Amino acid sequence: MKKQVATIGLEMHCEFKSNSKVFSPAKNAYSEIPNSNIAPLDMAFPGTLPVVNKKCVEDALKVSIALHCTQPEYMVFDRKNYYYPDLPKGYQITQMASPVGVNGKIDIEVDGKIIPVYIHDVHLEEDSASLDHFFDTSNIDYNRSEVPLFELVTEPCFHSAEEAGAFIEHMIRVYRYLGVSDADTKRGQIRCDVNVSIADEDSLDLGTKVETKNVNSIGGVIGTINYEIARQTKLKEEGRYSEIVQETRRWDEESGTTKRMRGKVDAIDYKYFIEPNIPKYKISAEWLKEIKEGIPRLHFERKQDYINNYGLSSYDAEVLVKDREISDYFEECLSLGIDAKSAANWISTQILGFLNKNNLNIKDLYLTPMRLKDLISELDKKTISSKQAKEIFEKVIKEKKEIKDFISKENTQMSDKAELTKIIEEILASNQSQIEEYKKGRTNIFDYFVGQVMKNTRGKANPVLTKEILNEKLKG
Ligand code: ADP
Ligand code: MG
Repeated sequence: MKKQVATIGLEMHCEFKSNSKVFSPAKNAYSEIPNSNIAPLDMAFPGTLPVVNKKCVEDALKVSIALHCTQPEYMVFDRKNYYYPDLPKGYQITQMASPVGVNGKIDIEVDGKIIPVYIHDVHLEEDSASLDHFFDTSNIDYNRSEVPLFELVTEPCFHSAEEAGAFIEHMIRVYRYLGVSDADTKRGQIRCDVNVSIADEDSLDLGTKVETKNVNSIGGVIGTINYEIARQTKLKEEGRYSEIVQETRRWDEESGTTKRMRGKVDAIDYKYFIEPNIPKYKISAEWLKEIKEGIPRLHFERKQDYINNYGLSSYDAEVLVKDREISDYFEECLSLGIDAKSAANWISTQILGFLNKNNLNIKDLYLTPMRLKDLISELDKKTISSKQAKEIFEKVIKEKKEIKDFISKENTQMSDKAELTKIIEEILASNQSQIEEYKKGRTNIFDYFVGQVMKNTRGKANPVLTKEILNEKLKG
């Protein structure tokens, strides 16, 4: 058999955050208590009408712009008709003919390499209710009904599980940077339909695609793709290619396999038509401009900037852009004139360590970039040692004081050469036998001398200067 190439396309759903739901006034919030955040529309009571949440449209346009899609002239919704117990209206309000964005393209990083990803379209729709299945009964929970759902459909442009996984991670960050969603996979806010096909390496046509629906973790998407590639390749090897059919499967976490749910033989005809209860309305150029201006620089752009213009390593830059708030903190440090590398160092070691240990958010950190600047400047002036700086770092936060409150004559570093030389001379004078030993070749006695100096100065001697003077004296 010829070498096979896999092709993958994703349909990625993301639940947006908002105060009220996309077409109903109920609260948009996750709740463990069924049917606690609901309004009559969520249950399709007669006489209820959808009212579009402007913020959701704005957020959808935000993502559309950020992904370099083309936006339509009018905002239009469509009805997708089908019956399922979690869809009481008998249709889903979505977008089909004129989605909020088409033909996007972005670059993502996969294992240090940059690849393009092509977006077929993005659209705004409503989520369905959810079903809780019990032994002999199923309950409907309408909390999720009408939650704003943003769907992104990629072109079949991925060729491995790693690429698809990296894309989902990339998008999760985009959603968070834009502030449109927490994109929390643990709360089911990200769900993907994963389409996989295989074909001969030199084939011009793509193979038959198999769809695995509703995979709700990155690990699940990666598992699905790897399993499907292996399953399809094996069938083909055995001469059973015709058994690869357009069907819908599901990911089974426990066994790490996909299982057939239903065939696509009687492909559903959704009989789409324009949603008549929502008038179309114009997306003005001014509105788009306003939204565009509110879009922050995204992680990918920031990372390139930190590497190319601030000399950070790819690893350090990655640590900083992982979280928008951390990256914002870093950029505030830059704007205060703190050296990029020392700011990056402090953030990635001391600050992140402290935040993790105390389960804090950087926004709530008492050590603001301004205070960090004070601390680093004392260190640069050598008034304090780096060990002292770390102590002051914790003290400032714990006692909610200023850096200067901890810089006293008492604990500043001793960096006066004349003063240190005097102390060192005294120590050497009373350690003649050790000097002899040292000169005979017991070089580790050097550390003993350093220790004596530290003891004598209660740890305040500047270590670099101490070693320098000691070297000079012992050579002579
Ligand atoms: P359908 O009409 O069945 O919904 P679409 O052409 O609209 O199919 O594509 C749906 C998703 O499947 C898209 O994400 C697309 O990238 C992906 N896809 C389409 N063809 C293939 C293929 N041959 N292999 C893998 N993915 C594919
Ligand atoms: Mg959809």
